[in-house]
Amino acid sequence: MPRPSKRMEKLGPYLFSAIGAKVREMKAKGFKVISLGIGDPDVPTPDPIVLELIRSVTDVNDRDRFRYGSDWPLDVFPKAVSEYYQKRFEVELDPNTEIVSLIGSKEGIAHIALCYLDPGDIALVPEPCYPVYKTGALLALAETYPMPLLPERNWTPDFSEIPKEVLKRAKLMWLNYPNNPTAACVNLEFFNEAVEFAREYGLLICHDAAYVDITYDGYVAPSILQVPKAKEVAIEFGSLSKPFAMTGWRIGWAVGNAEAVRLLATVKDNIDSGIFRPIQRAGAKALQIWCQEPSFIRPLVETYQRRRDLVLNSLRKAGVSVQPPKGSLYVWSPIPEGFTNSQEFANFLLERAYVAVTPGGGYGQAGEGYFRISLTYPDDIICEAMRRIESALLKI
Ligand SMILES: *Cc1c(COP(=O)(O)O)cnc(C)c1O
Repeated sequence: MPRPSKRMEKLGPYLFSAIGAKVREMKAKGFKVISLGIGDPDVPTPDPIVLELIRSVTDVNDRDRFRYGSDWPLDVFPKAVSEYYQKRFEVELDPNTEIVSLIGSKEGIAHIALCYLDPGDIALVPEPCYPVYKTGALLALAETYPMPLLPERNWTPDFSEIPKEVLKRAKLMWLNYPNNPTAACVNLEFFNEAVEFAREYGLLICHDAAYVDITYDGYVAPSILQVPKAKEVAIEFGSLSKPFAMTGWRIGWAVGNAEAVRLLATVKDNIDSGIFRPIQRAGAKALQIWCQEPSFIRPLVETYQRRRDLVLNSLRKAGVSVQPPKGSLYVWSPIPEGFTNSQEFANFLLERAYVAVTPGGGYGQAGEGYFRISLTYPDDIICEAMRRIESALLKI
């Protein structure tokens, strides 16, 4: 067998498999471990979307329905994305040049690196962050430079801290709000600042907007494309996965700067052949329903808000004070006093409460001192887990 590539040496398994291994080991020993670690909605995709899939997959009049998904002229999905951007953000997008459909946004997030990064180039990535921003750079044999997210700056990076030598080699800058894992939310002012910075230093901003429609307490999250002229320097990644509970369907988009969209589409045309057509139709249906009736996803969002409050109340009872997040599917909490780091606390919860959470330190130094709880588990499971956490903490 040949030796695996240098990429593979660096790539390693996907995030936090160490915790995963420990959970499996404890489960094998018979412990009833509850995991609150992963952000993958437990609720089903709403019926009208499922029914559109069934309709289109069985539509014998559509003789093209099983053909490659990338082939012209099936444009129902990009058109629906453009309609959604108009209605949701009042942003105009040309479905032909400013939208590319993705096999889930993760796919595009990884592939955009191949469009811009050569060895020696740099992608600026927030720390902590969704790991795929780094993966893309790594696969392109490029480098990443961490922009620490600071609690005192509401978990936004301080652009003025990035050294000029780094900026000379930087091409991409990743942002993600509402944020995973910190649950931080921003207003348009912050995006304004980011766009200005990107224009000054010739960067492409890659904004990951996966949670833009999962927000609470009346907060409405902006798109970076609402900033005037943002299209000159930004591409935004979106997904049906979280707002419509469609993680397994694999459908999302990238929109904005036409050149970036074209390059990403070129990489994809050379690697994949598109999304299964009935899934494109069902995805379009999801967005069309949203455009007619934005409250369509309210029950889903209310479910997460109820769970968020459950987790917050319980943490407070146990003496941990957390700000209620205004968006995302996560509670990002400081570890209680008396623990030296997030890994120690995660181990404590696993061994004493049989609950697995994500230690913030797993995301790098800037995440240290925090842990993440995901709200994508049934209410009764979350209740039981929080009861166990409370009692373990009150015992010490
Ligand atoms: C879940 C998630 C995604 C992507 O999901 P897809 O299912 O690939 O569309 C992207 N970014 C963040 C931060 C996420 O948490």
